[in-house]
Amino acid sequence: MKAVVYEGPRKVSVKEVPDARIERPTDVLVRITTTNICGSDLHMYEGRTDFEPGRWFGHENLGQVVEVGSGVDKVQVGDFVVLPFNVACGHCKNCECGLTNYCLTAQPVPEWAGAAYGFADMGPWAGGQAELLRVPWGDFNCLRLGEDAEERQNDYVMLADIFPTGYHATELAHVKPGDQTVIYGAGPVGCMAAYSAVLKGASRVMVVDRHPDRLAKAAEIGAIPIDDSKVDPVEAVNELTMGLGADNGCECVGYQAHDPQGEEHPNMTLNNLVRSVRFTGTIGVVGVYVPQDPGAKDELAKQGEVAFDFGQFWFRGQTMGSGQCPVKKYNRALRDLIAGGKATPSWIVSHELPLDQAPEGYEHFDAREPGWTKIVLHPGDVHARA
Ligand SMILES: [Zn+2]
Ligand SMILES: [Zn+2]
Repeated sequence: MKAVVYEGPRKVSVKEVPDARIERPTDVLVRITTTNICGSDLHMYEGRTDFEPGRWFGHENLGQVVEVGSGVDKVQVGDFVVLPFNVACGHCKNCECGLTNYCLTAQPVPEWAGAAYGFADMGPWAGGQAELLRVPWGDFNCLRLGEDAEERQNDYVMLADIFPTGYHATELAHVKPGDQTVIYGAGPVGCMAAYSAVLKGASRVMVVDRHPDRLAKAAEIGAIPIDDSKVDPVEAVNELTMGLGADNGCECVGYQAHDPQGEEHPNMTLNNLVRSVRFTGTIGVVGVYVPQDPGAKDELAKQGEVAFDFGQFWFRGQTMGSGQCPVKKYNRALRDLIAGGKATPSWIVSHELPLDQAPEGYEHFDAREPGWTKIVLHPGDVHARA
């Protein structure tokens, strides 16, 4: 089969690799029809993780079941399914509590928890930027889709990661109807957090970024764009909220946060959020932070430490939630919002490419080129258009 193989920093190529196959009775084999390039793939693509050359990315996957193991009960050949990026067993202590983001079985390092397809430090699982994907514990991990699955793939594929992750950010931040919410980062996850806040009935959603195309995407769903290359975002949020600050806020940028000049400051959005959110407000952090960042410039960041303004955070009596999204907690309900015509997350998609053009997709997306907001790959689809 073909896969988008990582060869080293900023280099991927489409290559023949051994076919994914059923390895255990509980496995499901999926022919991938839609798989996304994610912002979190870029940390690995840029060589800022220990992702091994020769492996392939792809944790936002949708496709059609072509084979099931002898121990699979529910999922059937022919079903269209979307896979949470979390690989989870369904029976460990964390999975039983719904915390599939921290599965203890799918992560081979005993001191760690959590696994994902095609991801650094998240277990041995192959990615889905390929023609076939092996889905372990298939009955637990596959979310089956309805009759409109094939024609609405660009909506449903967002259930693998960014729609639930954006939603999770608003859950961690306790966004409720009527709230004033600020989102830092208008990349795909930030836009989905803004979309989720809108769906939840927030009265005002403010989105901070500096890429005009991304801010325009956020504005399309009624969010107020704040360009932090032109104004101080903390002042802008305070002005919009009568000096009080937002009720809550979401961090959708992560450790490679940088200023408009391009200089990285892993603490930048966190500290801006603390100052943008009111006293006793709530913050959800879904942007990626890492225990070590050897590629960072300063010593603190190399150790995975961040100069967080804890004094200001404590003084304000704020609460913060963080970490990866337990996709299964939300994907069924969000699927039904899509099926019911209440949500259309494909509005974020800017490009659909065949698998062969994935290397170009990575290049453009990594360069944050204007208009490249979200790239969807269609393995095997000769009709995908650039
Ligand atoms: Zn993702
Ligand atoms: Zn588990």
